[in-house]
Amino acid sequence: MDTLVLNAWYQPIDRVSWQDAFRLIFTGRAEVVENYGDRTVRSARQAFAVPSIVRFVRKVKAAVSFRRKVPFNRRNVYLRDRGRCQYCGTKVPSNEFDFEHVIPRAQGGRTSWENIVVACIPCNQHKGNRTPQQARMRLLTKPTRPKSLPGNGCGGLVWQEGMPQSWKDYLRSVRYWHETLES
Ligand SMILES: [Zn+2]
Repeated sequence: MDTLVLNAWYQPIDRVSWQDAFRLIFTGRAEVVENYGDRTVRSARQAFAVPSIVRFVRKVKAAVSFRRKVPFNRRNVYLRDRGRCQYCGTKVPSNEFDFEHVIPRAQGGRTSWENIVVACIPCNQHKGNRTPQQARMRLLTKPTRPKSLPGNGCGGLVWQEGMPQSWKDYLRSVRYWHETLES
């Protein structure tokens, strides 16, 4: 059960566990915007409604002080590489790209920010189980762990099926995200 965290201007910056959300509230850093109506946790003496959304109270650059590492996942790799094959530069649809190991796993390559790029299917197949040098292919950019992601100022959060409805008012939808990416 997670809590959406907004900055003082009601912009989404993170999602945290409800325990972390309570910590932010009890230390006075954040206030509750909305509770999960049906969920409470109990201490010895009291029951507390679990917040679904909290907001930083002070107008500090909370997004900076509070930013976590960008999670390593398929979608964020796609965002980092701006949806382009890192060998030929072709725009690849987000549901059609291959998770390409630069150094192939067969040669000890890891599944990490530094070794995974977006590749189109033809490039991926042409490269096969070879390193870029072996395949005489050049990467357009050296893959690294991004500090932030292009095209979304909200910590990579988009509203998706399964997230609390209350978050919808604050998060862009997946559809919106794809539309902005195409433009
Ligand atoms: Zn390609």
